[in-house]
Formats: sequence, structure tokens, C-alpha cells
Amino acid sequence: MPIDATLPYDDENIFAKILRGEIPSKKVYEDEWAYAFHDIAPQAPLHILVIPKGRYVSWDDFSAKASADEIAGFVRAVGTIARDHDLVEPGYRLLGNVGADGGQEVPHLHVHLFGGKPLGRMISA
Ligand code: 5GP
Repeated sequence: MPIDATLPYDDENIFAKILRGEIPSKKVYEDEWAYAFHDIAPQAPLHILVIPKGRYVSWDDFSAKASADEIAGFVRAVGTIARDHDLVEPGYRLLGNVGADGGQEVPHLHVHLFGGKPLGRMISA
């Protein structure tokens, strides 16, 4: 069910529980700013979710309120994960869903990282 990205942060969302280790996840990366794990329902041969450690609902919330260090740390983590998986060549796709029209279902900012095959059209409605 898509969420309203203007709602306050909910500490009981599923990715908050993953960050606290209350729900298992297949970790692929962690540093001071970010945590990354395999999507439970992969839509490409490689489908990783990268989340900031801070309490941000969406890209909107993060871009408005996160510190410069948090933003830099998160963006660098996404790039590092892609390089660690040898994705720069042949390439990969990043996707960030925001709110209802974006199809965002989990109210903790996450970037989808897809790779492992040609990914086709950018959007199919
Ligand atoms: P959204 O639609 O919010 O951008 O994407 C949420 C993503 O989280 C979906 O791709 C979904 O498969 C994934 N997801 C939902 N619950 C879990 C979970 O408990 N563990 C993992 N690893 N992924 C989840």
C-alpha cells in the first residue's frame, strides 16, 4: 500500500526494524551513514536496497532535513556498493520511490539498486 510521504517518521516501519536488527536481512554493506541489503522480492538479478541510518521518511524528507555529511555519506555508499558489485560497466539503475504516485510502500528512505542484466525501458505504466 503506497504511503503518504508527508507523514512523520514511524519508528515501527519495517526498515527501522531491519536497522535495529529486529528483523533479519541479507546485508551487503554498512558504514556510518548507510545500510544495504537484498530486496526480499528481487525485480532484477541484483536488487539491493540502500537506506540511510537516520530517520527519514523519503527522498523529500532527506533532501530537506539531512545534514551535508549524511547526504554525502549516503550518496557515496550507493556508489561504493555499485562499484563493489562491478556494476559500473555494464551499468545499473537507481530508483527512489516517493509517496503515493511514486509507489513508495516503506516509509524509510530507500534507493533501489538494480543490475545484472539490461534493464529495458525506464518506466512501464
Ligand atoms: P518501495 O515500493 O517502498 O519503493 O519498495 C519497498 C521494497 O522493500 C520492495 O521492493 C519490497 O520487496 C521490499 N521489502 C519489503 N519488506 C521487506 C523486508 O522485510 N525485507 C526486505 N529485504 N525487503 C523488503
